[in-house]
Amino acid sequence: MKRTTGHNNVIKILMLAALLAAGPAVSAAQAPIEVGELKIGRIDDRFAVLLPMQSATETHDVEGHGSFSIYFRNAVILHGNQRYAVGDAGVDEISVKQVQPDVVAMVFSLKAGFKVESRDFDAARGGYLFFTGRTVGEAEPPKGPFEIEADEELARFRERLSKDRHHPKKKIRRVVIDPGHGGFDSGAVGPTGLKEKDVVLDIARRVKSIIDKETGMYAFLTRRGDYYIPLSSRTVIANKYRADLFVSIHANANENRKARGYEVYFCSEKASSKEAEAVAQRENISYEERDESSLEKNLINIEEIVFKAGRKKLWDDSREACDNFIALFPGDLGVKSRGAHSANFFVLRKARMPSVLVEVAFISNPEEERILGSEAFKERMAREIVKVIRSLKIQ
Ligand SMILES: [Zn+2]
Repeated sequence: MKRTTGHNNVIKILMLAALLAAGPAVSAAQAPIEVGELKIGRIDDRFAVLLPMQSATETHDVEGHGSFSIYFRNAVILHGNQRYAVGDAGVDEISVKQVQPDVVAMVFSLKAGFKVESRDFDAARGGYLFFTGRTVGEAEPPKGPFEIEADEELARFRERLSKDRHHPKKKIRRVVIDPGHGGFDSGAVGPTGLKEKDVVLDIARRVKSIIDKETGMYAFLTRRGDYYIPLSSRTVIANKYRADLFVSIHANANENRKARGYEVYFCSEKASSKEAEAVAQRENISYEERDESSLEKNLINIEEIVFKAGRKKLWDDSREACDNFIALFPGDLGVKSRGAHSANFFVLRKARMPSVLVEVAFISNPEEERILGSEAFKERMAREIVKVIRSLKIQ
């Protein structure tokens, strides 16, 4: 009897092992699905988590005391295990780890009473989207670092402006430089782990420093550190400063690691190409508050109406600015120009001044990732951006 039971158990274990290895819905021969860096934020008023993945895969849920785990079969983590302290919306921590060579686990550590409400594979956002408990009706959060900085910067700007009121009309006086991403949103990550958010912050700081020290213009940054700002708040900051130009700085990425080069975008309803649309789609991933920002509330409606009417002119001016970014781009920078394009970029859409988005190089290309890590390149790129800004004349 004992021997028979043992034999049955061996068969059961073998069957279970076979099931775990292949899984009923996924064939063992299928290439594993790559899991990117977790993104945490808000969509409308809800706490949201996006786990980037190229396609849906078989999942298995395990509910525990104070935790909720989802196992993804036939999946591999691209950039190592991840762990995020959240402390928000009932979630203490989220971790993503490779628990078997082809199984990735995502674990939510939850506060009492909270549940992961829903999840779906969201093809448009490029991964699995999760929501947890709602936060409607909670007390107003304290001012975030960007709000405090924006207030301080604005006070300084007003002081400078009051001292210096006589400028020729057509030259650019004030520029808002927007380093893309930040905080939990790393942007694209290069093959050796260089993060877009760090590279673009470095370049943006250099641009600001050169503008402030060497030109008669004023430059402001939408973020000065490693924290996240919703896309809509970035243009709200530019609008508040009454900037003449808004320049968002990014690094490009493509599944094809051979893709390389520098390109510049302006905003349009329709993308100029499928590739341009894909770039906008990647850069548009964002987690917005429903009413976007407390700063936005201060804007008067009439301004909004006038703005919509004048948008075509703004976008035409933005296209002209883009042409300058391409025409003046030097041939000896080590990165080739791919020209000017347009697409519907959320970060540019509401800017009340000409606005461009610069993709300095492809961080997904091993050679360009190396270049993006170089101090000399970042300094040179910053100087080229300033050179273009100085050349622009805005009506
Ligand atoms: Zn970006």
